Amino acid sequence: MLLSIVIPCYNEEQNVPLFYQECTRVLEGIMPETELIFINDGSQDQTLKKLQKISDESHYQIKVIDFSRNFGKEAALLAGLESSQGDYVAIIDADLQQRPEYILKMLDILKNNPNIDEVAAYQEVRHEGKILTFFKDCFYRLINKMTEVEFVQSASDFRLLKRKVVDAIVSLPEKCRFSKGIFSWVGFQTYYMPYQVEERAFGTSKWSFWKLFIYAVDGIVAFSTVPLVISSVLGILFFLISIVFLATIVIKTLIWGDPVAGFPTLASLILLTAGIQLLCIGVLGQYLSKNYLESKNRPVYLIKQIYQSKGKHHEAH
Ligand code: UDP
Ligand code: MG
Repeated sequence: MLLSIVIPCYNEEQNVPLFYQECTRVLEGIMPETELIFINDGSQDQTLKKLQKISDESHYQIKVIDFSRNFGKEAALLAGLESSQGDYVAIIDADLQQRPEYILKMLDILKNNPNIDEVAAYQEVRHEGKILTFFKDCFYRLINKMTEVEFVQSASDFRLLKRKVVDAIVSLPEKCRFSKGIFSWVGFQTYYMPYQVEERAFGTSKWSFWKLFIYAVDGIVAFSTVPLVISSVLGILFFLISIVFLATIVIKTLIWGDPVAGFPTLASLILLTAGIQLLCIGVLGQYLSKNYLESKNRPVYLIKQIYQSKGKHHEAH
């Protein structure tokens, strides 16, 4: 049995040595059958140097994939999954918010339950502000209504996958990748395991509210076309309303000789319809832009170099 552990790293110079130390300590028993795949996602700090040092000095199987620039965590995950060789593949962050101990737990679950293909960790208790929690709740309610795949709230990328799930995920050719959706879309039997999120060992999270918002929109666009349907329905609705409105004005003028209603009504109607039109064009634009990006068919990431440890177990695979 070979276990691959995929670790995306972006500006994690302080966390990477600590992560390696913790990971090898915790997984000591299975380290000879484990490969660590670090992806340096265009870090601007000393992350690459630290990773090279680890891979040079380690006698375990270590692979460091160095991207040509920052392509984002989704790209890093894909690169890791694509180059993994394990029968089981774990995905874990480099910042020790997700303790490596859980990987053993996940492995136990997968080994003892042949019908389960994937274990996904979810946060039982969230340590977030009320406003953020509110927006996340709204997002999950919305996206679950709009899509046929199920998005499980609080489920993270911290997972252990069987080889067949990994193969399914990397076989999807799309370039704009939203892994939360892809994990559900490929199906397979998933076991949700509660876990406790730790504080970051060093550094700060790369997510801001704005980035999360864009990520949420990307997710909806990637997995649902319902917003396009809503745009069309709004168009039809406004067309019907305008006919009724027009008819009322004509009838009122013809029968009662009423003067045409005032400027404020007109101004607000123009603003309302223009606003809705812009909104719908914006929705259309989102899909068009994704289509444009996909049609360019650019690779999801570019690798500058791959470093491998001279680990004594390497030759075995
Ligand atoms: N990460 C990455 N590329 C990026 C941003 C983040 O590879 O562009 C990595 C990061 O180094 C970490 C993981 O993704 O290992 C999760 O990032 P972060 O801790 O910022 O996210 P959070 O835990 O707050 O969700
Ligand atoms: Mg983190």
